[in-house]
Amino acid sequence: MARIPEYKKLINTRLANTYGGWIYCDGCNKTIGYLCYVTYDFFRLVYQCKCGNCGSVHLVFSGENTDQISSEQSLITIKNRLCCPEDKSPLVTILEKNLDSYKYEINCKACNTKYQVK
Ligand SMILES: [Zn+2]
Ligand SMILES: [Zn+2]
Repeated sequence: MARIPEYKKLINTRLANTYGGWIYCDGCNKTIGYLCYVTYDFFRLVYQCKCGNCGSVHLVFSGENTDQISSEQSLITIKNRLCCPEDKSPLVTILEKNLDSYKYEINCKACNTKYQVK
């Protein structure tokens, strides 16, 4: 059941679990988002929190996946969760109200598509 990330780097940020769950800003300890555990293989978030802290999260389970498709589509929101528009896999929640700015990339494991928000 346990997945081991191939690459994991957190800067000024804490994660509730090894590779998912609530994402906390180290500056103010507020929640800035939620990462779903099993639906992604790649996640990279760079943000500036309202408290002034700049942080990032980078998690990779399969680094060199050449079949990956980049999509121009936006994630869709279902019950406060940003989801893959193809198969509705829940991926991530970003709590915009706690952030000054952010950008992220995430892929959906089910359809191997990568989405970007900048
Ligand atoms: Zn903060
Ligand atoms: Zn998908």
